[in-house]
Amino acid sequence: MSQIARRHSRQVRVGNILVGGDAPVVVQSMTNTDTVDITATVNQVQALAEAGSELVRITVNTLEAAAAVPRIRDRLDALGCRVPLIGDFHFNGHKLLTQVPECAEALAKLRINPGNLGRGNKRDEQFATLIEVACRYNKPVRIGVNWGSLDQALAVRMMDDNARLPQPEDAEVVMRRAMIASALESAKKAEELGLGGDKIILSCKMSRVQDLIAVYQDLASACDYPLHLGLTEAGMGSKGIVASTAALSVLLQQGIGDTIRISLTPEPGGDRTKEVQVGQEILQALGLRAFTPQVTACPGCGRTTSTVFQELAQNIETYLRNQMPVWRGQYDGVESMQVAVMGCVVNGPGESKHANIGISLPGTGEVPVAPVYVDGEKTITLKGDRIAQEFQAIVEDYVRSHYRAA
Ligand code: SF4
Repeated sequence: MSQIARRHSRQVRVGNILVGGDAPVVVQSMTNTDTVDITATVNQVQALAEAGSELVRITVNTLEAAAAVPRIRDRLDALGCRVPLIGDFHFNGHKLLTQVPECAEALAKLRINPGNLGRGNKRDEQFATLIEVACRYNKPVRIGVNWGSLDQALAVRMMDDNARLPQPEDAEVVMRRAMIASALESAKKAEELGLGGDKIILSCKMSRVQDLIAVYQDLASACDYPLHLGLTEAGMGSKGIVASTAALSVLLQQGIGDTIRISLTPEPGGDRTKEVQVGQEILQALGLRAFTPQVTACPGCGRTTSTVFQELAQNIETYLRNQMPVWRGQYDGVESMQVAVMGCVVNGPGESKHANIGISLPGTGEVPVAPVYVDGEKTITLKGDRIAQEFQAIVEDYVRSHYRAA
């Protein structure tokens, strides 16, 4: 469906999901439960998977958490939830994976951070242990460099080298280069230790939009490993969504990025699945993938002084999103359906005709009727108090009659 030419990359299999090559850009997410709390983690992984997360990462930070991983996997399997699990390791991953080998077996991928593996020889030994575990259990690895935990020895070495140049470069440029060097050097070492090049995914996450774009553009041109994209510590609410969208859209439009995660800070008590929804919406807005029927709704203006059309637009959008887990397995192509909910006669009929199904509600002072358009043709005019229910029934009929059984 997309006109965007993707950067060439190798392909890596993560459980039953392909990342890179000609595979579609994969949406992933991360839990924020204590992994030791098996029930809470299973519930959240399942919610994320049902929302559309194709890979889910969980924290593995203690022996208890490592021991919980195979039990989480078993519980998910028993529930029919096959989403591949990724283990997120920092500082002690080498110990956890050697002491609890069942943890490595249960995971579909290991995420390791070269900046959090100690220093000098110790760092090399710990890195080698992690890669040996990945080789033994035939698991892919994401080498995930992060701005907040960059390998300090490497950064200092590169800053010193830069300082000796006749015309030293800006410190930020050098730090960005250090991020890329850390990822590439680690990938090279991993391959020397026996990990296949088709088992490596790279990421260099930054928290500022322009830094992220610059780093990934350079990283993409320096290697053909699949790239995991994400603006780290994106933040809360609209700031996090806008910053992530801005950064990822530029890169995805350039064909860069094989899997994405949106690192939103949830509101207290907020829904973790929001990060999945935002990731999907970015890909769908760019025309890279389709996940859920899209609602075109006008912003409203002085011609729509009641909230009727806002409520209808919101209800239809919620209804479509909630239906998708059911429809996905039943109707091929339904995720590409377009629905228009418009506030008045100015643009209502026009937008409605362009959608698969559209409704043009009456604006203030207009005759209180709502013409419905199906595939560009006006089919019925709704009126009265049950417009919302009747329109929803028309949408249901359309899905049943226009999309082939999966
Ligand atoms: S379609 Fe009508 S109600 Fe909606 S923004 Fe345009 S003029 Fe306003």
